[in-house]
Amino acid sequence: IEASRNTPSLRSFLVQVSRHASHIAQQQYDVIVVGGGHAGTEAAAAAARVGAETLLVTQKIHTIGALSCNPSLGGVGKGQLVKEVDALDGLCGRAGDWAGIHFSILNRKKGPAVWGLRAQLDRQRYREFIQSELLSTPRLTVVEGSVEELLVTEPNPEQPGHHRVTGIHLANGSHPISASSVVLTTGTFLSGSLFMGQSSSPGGRIGDAPSSSGLSQTLRERLGLRIGRLKTGTPPRIVKDSVDLSQTELQPPDSHPTPFSFLNTRIRCKPEEQLPCYLTYTTPGVERVVRESLHLNCHIQQDTKGPRYCPSIESRVLRFPGRKHQVWLEPEGVTSDLFYPQGLSMTMPPDIQLQLIREIPAMHRAEIHTPGYGVQYDFVCPTQLSPALQVKSTQGLFLAGQINGTTGYEEAAAQGVWAGANAARWALSMPAVSLSRTESYIGVLIDDLVSRGVTEPYRMFTSRAEFRTSLRPDNADLRLSLKGFEEVGCVSSFRYREAVKVRDSLQDALAALQSLTMSAHNWRKMLPDVHMSEAKSIVLTGMEVLQYKDVSFEMLASLFPELLSSYMEFSQRLKIEAVYRPHCDLQKKEIERIQREENMALPQDIDYLSLPVSLSKEAREILDRVRPSTLGAVMRLQGITPAAVIHLFNYVYHTG
Ligand code: FAD
Repeated sequence: IEASRNTPSLRSFLVQVSRHASHIAQQQYDVIVVGGGHAGTEAAAAAARVGAETLLVTQKIHTIGALSCNPSLGGVGKGQLVKEVDALDGLCGRAGDWAGIHFSILNRKKGPAVWGLRAQLDRQRYREFIQSELLSTPRLTVVEGSVEELLVTEPNPEQPGHHRVTGIHLANGSHPISASSVVLTTGTFLSGSLFMGQSSSPGGRIGDAPSSSGLSQTLRERLGLRIGRLKTGTPPRIVKDSVDLSQTELQPPDSHPTPFSFLNTRIRCKPEEQLPCYLTYTTPGVERVVRESLHLNCHIQQDTKGPRYCPSIESRVLRFPGRKHQVWLEPEGVTSDLFYPQGLSMTMPPDIQLQLIREIPAMHRAEIHTPGYGVQYDFVCPTQLSPALQVKSTQGLFLAGQINGTTGYEEAAAQGVWAGANAARWALSMPAVSLSRTESYIGVLIDDLVSRGVTEPYRMFTSRAEFRTSLRPDNADLRLSLKGFEEVGCVSSFRYREAVKVRDSLQDALAALQSLTMSAHNWRKMLPDVHMSEAKSIVLTGMEVLQYKDVSFEMLASLFPELLSSYMEFSQRLKIEAVYRPHCDLQKKEIERIQREENMALPQDIDYLSLPVSLSKEAREILDRVRPSTLGAVMRLQGITPAAVIHLFNYVYHTG
């Protein structure tokens, strides 16, 4: 708070907080959100947008929107989540555009469906944006405090084991605060312990106390929830001036940065003012230091599972001995004099951390500003949740973010927006809403969590989404903003109107392209530089011609300006749509077909374990155990994806 007092928006924020703090003991809220991290901020804002009187309680107001680890947002799979949260009117996309200082699209060599928009962020700007957004959200009150306990009713005798949440108790012993629903988003704080070298201490993140043990106890003992333990870690922060940048490879940002938000046409930072990143590599000396210090490093010795796809340097060198590993030096902000060394998360004692980084030539004289450390924390096994992210055995209790076993800001934000919207709907007696795997990455994320659970920190990848050619970053607004307004209530009428305008314009443009018909011969004459192999007499539509790699919408618009030039602002979207349309149409037909074939009987002697079709080991085991009698029964099985249903359907259909 001290640090933030000089910022005018935060000052008025604090005024509002103190104004509300005196009332909270008397007030009944619709929704209480516990935790102001990435899940909690999205949950609180979404609940308020749906129309619920919402209270956000978090340990420290000035850490609302803090980036606990890496100063970046998005990436492959994760960028898709940010676009979807934005399409649901969430905060992180706009915050990323405001705070981004280095934008790039990853995976560009592949098709645009799997491009991953990513940005380095200025930590302070990101926090400020999120905090000022929350301040101006109607129906949302923010208060600083630590939630000591969750208030729940005794189990309902008619539904043994079923509780109902009634509110929370703060640690300062004040009156209970009641609410119809509570969203817990305690991140890495639930029974959190911090590790560095051989010492450990209670904590959720450096400088922050863990969540009270009362909360863990209520979840475990009173509600009988299964709780697991996971771990993660963060690298030391390096003093920028102490790095020899001449021994690194410069990684410039994109010269034309692409914003995350559908509401933005440009980012806040001028393209030419973006900051570069730098790439360097580990050496055999790094591996030696890791090996020689293992006995001093209790975090790495423990069996608790860490993030497989964002591993510590210790895990990397032990798993892949003799390899050279990438280290990205990323700026922490415009005025920050620190680098975040992505890839060097470590938990050995601080003096050995210094020894290790100095084994890297670019850092042979580097100074550490803050050492790296690890954190271990409790998570709630997410198979105990419904697709609305509500705890199945406790009415009105919702969970989102790292508490559900995920890792990453984007995964947390995605769950937050959905849990917050559903918590508000529950409180306002509206039915729960869900998202399917066929309509969004958020649907994939939630389905994976609630039907399969996690054994290690879960992060999103494009490969997890079977329908990724339809779930593209470019069309998240059409997939979710319309539904978000019409069915969920979490999208503003302004954003809805924008999405409707886009939908209508795209439909008109696609119809215009479809109406442009000519023989391949004539198209070839008009586009002499494009290689078209079709027979002379074949008639092609403008849409089909746009599918050719070398044809751009701009080329067609210059040939048919009267018909197409008014759609120029959508040129990239139209090109992407044309390229993917045939495949998506086919996929849609397949889904519709299996829905019609719900009653198709399945042979009872199928050997699912060795069936020659593309099914995961997990899907095979479920099918083998349950032996469903119809295709419809397969569709309703938890842990079976729509893609698995399609593969099974095709197999049974073709083998009679
Ligand atoms: P958080 O962002 O952690 O927010 C939790 C919030 O809840 C905090 O504001 C906290 O103050 C508040 N809170 C907790 N308990 C209470 C209570 N009882 N009462 C009131 N408020 C409470 N992610 C990666 O993707 N890769 C990584 O390598 C990685 N490394 C990490 C390393 C460390 C050391 C830490 C701490 C986190 C790391 N993360 C990493 C995780 C990343 O920070 C989280 O994925 C993300 O922040 C999760 O968001 P969240 O909203 O679930 O929780």
